[in-house]
Amino acid sequence: MMALSGISISKGIAIGKAAVLRRGTLDIREYSIPESLIEDEVVRFRSALRKAKRQLRAVRDDISPDAPSEAAALLDTHIVMFDDHTLREGPVEIICSRRCNAEWALKLQRDLLMQVFEEMDDPYLRARKDDIEHVINRIQQNLQGDEGFPSDMFDHRARGAVVVADDLAPAEIMLMYKHGVAAFVTECGGLNSHTAILARSLGVPAVLGVHHARCYIHHDDDVAIEGRHGMVVVAPSLLEMDYFRHCQQEERHYRALLGKLKRRPVISRDGQTIVLMAMAEMREDARAAREAGAAGIGLFRTEMLFLGQRDLPNEAEQFDTYVRIVQAMKGAPVTIRTLDLGMDKWLAGMRPPADGGNPAMGLRAIRWCLQDPTMFSTQLRAILRASAYGPVRIMFPMLCAESELHQALALLSAEKSALCAAGVDFDADIHVGAMIEVPAAALSAASFARCIDFLSLGTNDLIQYALAVDRMDEEVNYLYDPLHPAVLKLIHMTIAAGRRAGIPVSMCGEMAGDPFYTWLLLGMGLRDFSVAPGSLLEIKRAIVDSDIALLTPKVRRILRLGSRAEIGAAVDHLVASMQRSF
Ligand code: PEP
Ligand code: MG
Repeated sequence: MMALSGISISKGIAIGKAAVLRRGTLDIREYSIPESLIEDEVVRFRSALRKAKRQLRAVRDDISPDAPSEAAALLDTHIVMFDDHTLREGPVEIICSRRCNAEWALKLQRDLLMQVFEEMDDPYLRARKDDIEHVINRIQQNLQGDEGFPSDMFDHRARGAVVVADDLAPAEIMLMYKHGVAAFVTECGGLNSHTAILARSLGVPAVLGVHHARCYIHHDDDVAIEGRHGMVVVAPSLLEMDYFRHCQQEERHYRALLGKLKRRPVISRDGQTIVLMAMAEMREDARAAREAGAAGIGLFRTEMLFLGQRDLPNEAEQFDTYVRIVQAMKGAPVTIRTLDLGMDKWLAGMRPPADGGNPAMGLRAIRWCLQDPTMFSTQLRAILRASAYGPVRIMFPMLCAESELHQALALLSAEKSALCAAGVDFDADIHVGAMIEVPAAALSAASFARCIDFLSLGTNDLIQYALAVDRMDEEVNYLYDPLHPAVLKLIHMTIAAGRRAGIPVSMCGEMAGDPFYTWLLLGMGLRDFSVAPGSLLEIKRAIVDSDIALLTPKVRRILRLGSRAEIGAAVDHLVASMQRSF
């Protein structure tokens, strides 16, 4: 037996025979093309590009209607890239100016694009580099006469296999998924890659970033994947195999149980109703939210629509997106968060601050919006107009000072007056919320609460700022700790401030979607959760199986404990006792 580890992408256990994908690296060389044949070379390039696009479109059109929405959305992103001017015309210009072959021209254009992406600090955008690479590889394969998806891994032979590859493009994943692949192991690819996003949303166990996996795993080896911890066990013993089969059974049983909860109301054993909403990043996520039975969208991250674009979308484009998600939610509320650019999210062409600046502490989120009121007002107008189509709430991210909230509210009020004067429909009583993501905001939650309709705890940032731990920095993220006594105090203060002011307090950070914390949070008084659609049923299960009246005094005792070690032990104990009662 040998155990390899990588990045955990999607939970789940898979057992199968390894199918190792070895694609020869494309041999791309330069050769010169005589003047008289340049035009033919350009035609050859254009035809390879068209073919590549057709192949992806065929995969896209073949996606079954019940596949998760991300699948089609990701392939659409790739299909659109074929129309990008730099990709269509860049290589043509190189073929003509350098009089070289199409493969070489495409390679040079690729190198140029990669360099631009390499220079980006933003991990999200850096991950988009893989998308360009996948699209360019598809064109190169067509140039080299490999039409379609030639490997035998992309047909029925993928059934039940644990595919081990250097990297996999979303289109390849979709083809293997269609044929019943059991799991993926790749040598490249990170948490933010589209390969990761897709594997997660398809629910296929996957471990990425397993360095040199293809040196250790051979074709037909028995392999077990433990997705939750990013573990790949090669040639497990009989005993280990039994263990994995047992876990797999338990997991299937658990998933089946969760499935039964879909239509059940979110009410605790002692009769308290909890609001369980979903988070969304693309308008297509509304479907996943509805399917999981979410009461609405508790956080719609609007910046995701804009990333990778050079310019901000105009009011009409934004309005179109907001209306579509509002309509897709069929009367359930949609909480639209105003732009949270900066730190880890930038528009194409924007650069993080020059040397020395700290993007997490700098011009980010509401600070950015208030410095660019034209851009901000455009977004506010689009959101207000969308509110005529169904229940919409607005929420401002990363507030720190009360004055920021007042400025944002003043701009909102100005836009309302302008729309009124123009006779445009919108919800005049639209609810407005403040995100509590900075310790200063948590400490001032009572003052914020006086001016708005709801508070929303963004624990991803609240923890990062409370503990001065950059959430993207792998060197220090071992210090990132939701159970730090200071973090719990800030959360508790915010919930208490909301309760005193008589307004709802929700939580929309990752902590809300981790069932390990659900009982603690219920006992702290949280009644409103916003979680990724994939976690919704797990959180629902924890809620419906709890007696909040019993939890509350237990949690109160935990909050009185002084040290992290005592809190950790007490929460472990609480979770174990709740799990026993399932
Ligand atoms: C948060 O900070 O918890 C949050 C939900 O916002 P984001 O992760 O988009 O910063
Ligand atoms: Mg945040």
